[in-house]
Amino acid sequence: MLVTAVNELEQQWRAVRDALRDEVGDAAYSTWLEPLVAAEVDGDRVVIGAPTPFLRDWVMQHYADRIRSVWQHVNPQVRRVALDVRKHAVAPVVRPPAPPPNASVAPAIRPASDGAARSHPLIEDYSAPIDPRFTFDNFVVAKSNDFAFAAAKRVSSADRPPFNPLFLYSGVGLGKTHLMHAIAWEIRRQDPDRRIVYLSAEKFMYQFVRALTTNSTLSFKDLFRSVDLLMVDDVQFIGGKNNTQEEFFHTFNELIERGSQIVISADRSPSDLEDLEERVRSRLSWGLVADIHPTTYELRLGILHSKAARMPNVVVPDELLQFLAERITSNVRELEGALNRVVHQSTLLGRPLTLDVAQDVLRDVLRANEKRITIEEIQKAVVAHYNLKPADMQSKRRSRVVARPRQVAMYLAKQLTPRSLPEIGRRFGGRDHTTVMHAVRKIEELMGEDDSILRDVDALRRRLQG
Ligand code: ADP
Ligand code: MG
Repeated sequence: MLVTAVNELEQQWRAVRDALRDEVGDAAYSTWLEPLVAAEVDGDRVVIGAPTPFLRDWVMQHYADRIRSVWQHVNPQVRRVALDVRKHAVAPVVRPPAPPPNASVAPAIRPASDGAARSHPLIEDYSAPIDPRFTFDNFVVAKSNDFAFAAAKRVSSADRPPFNPLFLYSGVGLGKTHLMHAIAWEIRRQDPDRRIVYLSAEKFMYQFVRALTTNSTLSFKDLFRSVDLLMVDDVQFIGGKNNTQEEFFHTFNELIERGSQIVISADRSPSDLEDLEERVRSRLSWGLVADIHPTTYELRLGILHSKAARMPNVVVPDELLQFLAERITSNVRELEGALNRVVHQSTLLGRPLTLDVAQDVLRDVLRANEKRITIEEIQKAVVAHYNLKPADMQSKRRSRVVARPRQVAMYLAKQLTPRSLPEIGRRFGGRDHTTVMHAVRKIEELMGEDDSILRDVDALRRRLQG
């Protein structure tokens, strides 16, 4: 009896883990989820064991909701997920990733920990695996990300650092990590012996604190100071901890002096990293700062097409891709996750790839994308941003100072809410849907030509989404 229960638990856990791996990608999966064990089911509650408190907290914060909802799909009885620290859970292992899809074309590519490990045994403790799916080839380029893309390419093909550091920033799920991994692949392809360390700022801190407690700070420092390319992802998490900042700063300076390339990412610009010391902040902006803007409908559709085309034995109807591109506007990660979930339903459960099924499977995501922002909030934010009166959003005045912000508001309403054009028109003083469509086109066009509009729209979007 007990044996069956344990087996069932294991089986469910395996299904859940497979689905999660698809959603979060190999890199995140092996860092955060692989070390977990399914400890027990207790009524409607699953208990998951993590090897360390750090990992437990991280998973709790970042993945607990996903685990719960995926588990619910596998076993509808499960309603809650708890995490605790279990000694028998395995400690995180950093495994070399599977070779990239084009490995046969470029046999020189080797996983991050491999090449470097020969010369420095410690390096594999520090660098996270490089995700084979994140290559330049797989990155869909559009106006919103072409600058960051070009900068990343430049870094990966130059003999000497063309700018140092390269600082990438954007909201979540817009491709920063993808570009960093792509740089690593490209550099490794050209020279497998280059020492590359890629890790999250959080992991950097974790490793640093661990080195402190085991008295191995010296080798830690040596290690970091001997790499050719150091990439630290999500540095907004470094703030606060003072000696880590200190360490980061010194490592950083030394590497730059030695001519090693540094690539940093964050969810905001260097000057907005309030938790960082001033000198660290200003140092970060010495090189090239490149931001990735939120996606447009076209980019989302492009990404879905490219993803779907790479799925073996699945033909996803255009109608479904368009639906997802239209409705899931938050970020690319969620967009991909949604596509994967729908396709899963079809490959695992044999459900057809229709809008109905998508709507059913994605209820939670769709709702989250929907309730996020209202037209009223958008109007309020625009009025405040441009110093207007609330009535200006409805008025018939056509002078540029009022009309342009109103168009911006309509554009944002189309982008950030699921409202239809006629609905949006009604909320802007009963305008016709063609007026809204014109506004959306106009702003899209202006964003390509006029930096100030682009900045306004971005600032507003950030404010609304943050
Ligand atoms: P970030 O680090 O900015 O939070 P990621 O790089 O992790 O975002 O991207 C989230 C997911 O979206 C990844 O699976 C990534 O491959 C995908 N993605 C983001 N931008 C693009 C793009 N332009 N083309 C293809 N995939 C993308
Ligand atoms: Mg990232």
